[in-house]
Amino acid sequence: MTATTARVASAHPSIASISTGLLIGGQWREAADGRVFDVENPATGEVLASVADASPADGDDALAAAVGAQAAWARTAPRHRSEILRRAYELVMERQDWLAEVMTLEMGKPLAEARGEVAYAAEFLRWFSEEAVRVSGDHSTTGDGANRIIVTREPVGPCVLITPWNFPLAMGTRKVAPAIAAGCTMVLKPAPQTPLSSLALAAILQESGLPDGVLNVVNTTDAATVVGRWMASGKARKVSFTGSTGVGKILLRQAAETVMRSSMELGGNAPFIVCADADVDTAVDGAMAAKMRNMGEACTAANRMYVHRDVADEFSERLAARMAALKVGNGLDDETDVGPLIDSAGRTKVQRLVDDALQRGATALTGGRLPDGPGYFYPPTVLADVSSDSDLMTTEVFGPVAPIIPFDDEDEVISRANDTDWGLVGYVFTQDIDRALDLSERLEVGMVGVNTGVVSNPAAPFGGVKQSGLGREGGKVGIDEFLEYKYLAVPRRRGR
Ligand code: NAP
Repeated sequence: MTATTARVASAHPSIASISTGLLIGGQWREAADGRVFDVENPATGEVLASVADASPADGDDALAAAVGAQAAWARTAPRHRSEILRRAYELVMERQDWLAEVMTLEMGKPLAEARGEVAYAAEFLRWFSEEAVRVSGDHSTTGDGANRIIVTREPVGPCVLITPWNFPLAMGTRKVAPAIAAGCTMVLKPAPQTPLSSLALAAILQESGLPDGVLNVVNTTDAATVVGRWMASGKARKVSFTGSTGVGKILLRQAAETVMRSSMELGGNAPFIVCADADVDTAVDGAMAAKMRNMGEACTAANRMYVHRDVADEFSERLAARMAALKVGNGLDDETDVGPLIDSAGRTKVQRLVDDALQRGATALTGGRLPDGPGYFYPPTVLADVSSDSDLMTTEVFGPVAPIIPFDDEDEVISRANDTDWGLVGYVFTQDIDRALDLSERLEVGMVGVNTGVVSNPAAPFGGVKQSGLGREGGKVGIDEFLEYKYLAVPRRRGR
């Protein structure tokens, strides 16, 4: 059997059609040493497919393919790159149901959410198809009038793109699309829990006309070595990473050695502030969206809910009722609202953090206990009166747990919200526009949801401050991360 089809006879036709090899220089191939690893369904433990497990030598081949393709790709017309992205957008949307099923199978999120992620992921392809033809430079004159200053933009060069498992398709398109638009080639390493969505995307981009070697996909269980060699090579000119702050720091240290451009989308522990004058219905809706998207396995998840004491009881009771009504189950079932967590380690971490909060005096209004049976399920949980010294306040829970901390005044809540190394996103709920703007300005974060629990949008610059990251993805600035400035000094002719 070749690496171009799933090697485990999958019970799922949606998976059987996916190429499970390595994509290197336009060819799907096995790992050089023939190794494979299994991809599991977190709802059942079933092995869905085995995919090629790249060795360091395969990784080197992939980078060589990206380096080899760079010069010709950089010279292509922006409209050409734009149209490839546009075709890919259309194919992804045509195949939305298929891609959603693949995502649910390998990652666990309910089908409706997976469809939403496919549409969100596709939007990055469409957005950057539009941005590809809008890259502009500048033309001015030196102060003494002697020289022209012509500023152009060039692709930064071959890129290393590394993605996490929680948004298997969107975290890929958020990097791949601007890199293509800018004229960069790339090696993409998806998370080993969820490679199938990236492999499906790569095949769609090939079908859309992406030339060989522009996108190379390397699945591996040896990320540290494979990626470490890319980082040390001096040939990759940019790293764009989404994942934990700890791994981001390792990559930044490696990037320093070869002075690589770096974009980092790292962890968060978002504060969610409900003021005394908030509309409680809106705040509960916002909390459900900000907490329960992706079962709480999101960098944007509302993990510290600071609620003014005047409305804390009402908010907590209503949130607990909404959370308790959610149906937990296999994401493939239509009635499921909440799928499993990604793996056993992830679930154990959630339970440890909940137990710690309970021991420090919190009350579980709903959830808080591990269910019996297979799959890595965890019940939606609301914890009231969480003490500020609980580990939940300083550790990203990555699960469906909403800790509520009452507060009395705004200075106090801002100081507690900012008392963290992270700074990705915050949420503010109030009906007073001045208060909303004031609190938003005082939060040390890259993004604020004002009376909404959803901030992610391809047209907006996504990213954080402090140890939540460097750079932005999406919006008008998303393509800048993949471009360099070049300045031409051109003397003016004398006497004219
Ligand atoms: P992770 O453990 O940091 O892994 C992310 C990726 O990095 C995976 O592909 C992983 O592969 C790879 N990796 C691990 N060690 C590496 C190394 N030494 N060199 C190169 N690559 C390495 O994070 P995760 O658990 O998958 O994802 C959850 C984290 O991502 C959370 O902290 C979340 O907040 C963050 N996140 C941030 C954003 C954002 O936009 N800010 C979005 C989504 C998620 P292996 O698994 O094989 O090690």
